[in-house]
Amino acid sequence: MNGKRILAFGAHPDDIEFGCGALLLDAEDRGAQLNLVVLSRGEAGTQGDGSTREIEARKAAEILGADIQFLPTAGDTQIRADMETILLAAKEIRRVQPNIILAPSRHLNQHPDHRETSLIVRDANRLARYGKTPGLEDLDLHASQMLLFYEISNEGSNGDGSNAILVDISSLVEKWKALMECHASQIKNLDYIDLQLSRARVLGIQMGVHSALRLYPEGPLLASSIAELSALKGQRF
Ligand SMILES: [Zn+2]
Repeated sequence: MNGKRILAFGAHPDDIEFGCGALLLDAEDRGAQLNLVVLSRGEAGTQGDGSTREIEARKAAEILGADIQFLPTAGDTQIRADMETILLAAKEIRRVQPNIILAPSRHLNQHPDHRETSLIVRDANRLARYGKTPGLEDLDLHASQMLLFYEISNEGSNGDGSNAILVDISSLVEKWKALMECHASQIKNLDYIDLQLSRARVLGIQMGVHSALRLYPEGPLLASSIAELSALKGQRF
């Protein structure tokens, strides 16, 4: 993946590592350039304050060899898909010029900031590729290859019936666990690490491997040929 750029968005400092950290570890190992953008410092969370959580996120970004930015939004629990926030995200997309963009999935039964961040990134990804979007004139337009949504909290589809892509992360489980442990303030009451690992384990068993991570593409994806398709595998159960 040398020369490929991945831009991952999260609403809170731990979302990216919990939702798709295993993928990013793999991408970094394969030479991709990683950029993380977080829309709050998690200052309204039950555990940990904003500065503690920022430090935790920076530690995780260091492990990933990733650049990390915190956007000046309305903050934790106040994140909404308004024009101002969408333009902030679109500017990041134009600045980074990523091949792949990652964002939280948008099902309803979860923290509202996750759902809103999903909508923000979806709209930002479109505006970043439109030629004359007001407010983005200073940056070169950019069309990413794909936008993929990852799961953070409880089960739920992306809400629009879109099909999932599963990625085998069997060899990354231990490294992923260590990465998630950077967010020590968030695992005091509930074992979010176990939640992520257990979901990945169940998905993996269904696909005939140890563990798998589920992503929802924004729309249909194009394979270059039958040869590219022949590397994929169907469900085992
Ligand atoms: Zn979150």
